[in-house]
Amino acid sequence: MIKENYLDVQKKVVAACERAGRDPKEVTLIAVSKTKPVSMIEELLPLGVVDFGENKPQELKEKYEVLPKDLKWHMIGHLQRNKVKYIIDKACMIHSLESLRLAETIQSEAEKHQVIMPVLIEVNAAQEESKFGLTLDETPAFIEQVAAFPNLRVSGLMTIAPFVENPEDNRVHFQNLYNLFIDIKQRNIDNVSMCNLSMGMTNDYEVAIEEGATMVRVGTGIFGARSYPV
Ligand SMILES: *Cc1c(COP(=O)(O)O)cnc(C)c1O
Repeated sequence: MIKENYLDVQKKVVAACERAGRDPKEVTLIAVSKTKPVSMIEELLPLGVVDFGENKPQELKEKYEVLPKDLKWHMIGHLQRNKVKYIIDKACMIHSLESLRLAETIQSEAEKHQVIMPVLIEVNAAQEESKFGLTLDETPAFIEQVAAFPNLRVSGLMTIAPFVENPEDNRVHFQNLYNLFIDIKQRNIDNVSMCNLSMGMTNDYEVAIEEGATMVRVGTGIFGARSYPV
């Protein structure tokens, strides 16, 4: 069932790329395995799936430890500073950088482990009160600041769009984030390589791809509904 779901989502990713005149190789499908057991992740490994997303540092660490070491673990959820140490040498990317204090912690942990951590800046594109992330306006200046941290590499932007019945309602937020992404890319800031735009989840990843997403984060659509909300 999980394999079939994954292949179905993958087909829709390709179709969305075709509609948008994009090369499907530009889009990474991240299987969001949060709350789901290792056995479900293992079902996908024969397909060659390597990109998985988790939003709890301890859970990422536990799964990392028991699964093959060539998998890529994306830290996609809100990250508390005291938990950075669990994932600094395990995550391939942190999608949710949204404060200078968190950047400082990632810098000191990354330096300790002698790694360079790719980070995406989380933008609250729809300006929802309940969500973490910078406003579109705050983002360029924040990136200039983060660019000064030698062990962080700003690699793009991420957003969690609102939950909506009709994914078309999120199109404008994806467009706004894409425009900001291009704008920052054109500034050619040192130590910043704007190559990733992480946007789109189960409900709206096709629209996100049409609007330029390079990474989509799909949980429910692959692994089924989660038994508790996170
Ligand atoms: C849970 C989660 C997802 C996946 O959500 P689905 O709607 O299940 O696809 C994507 N991104 C983040 C940040 C998440 O926390």
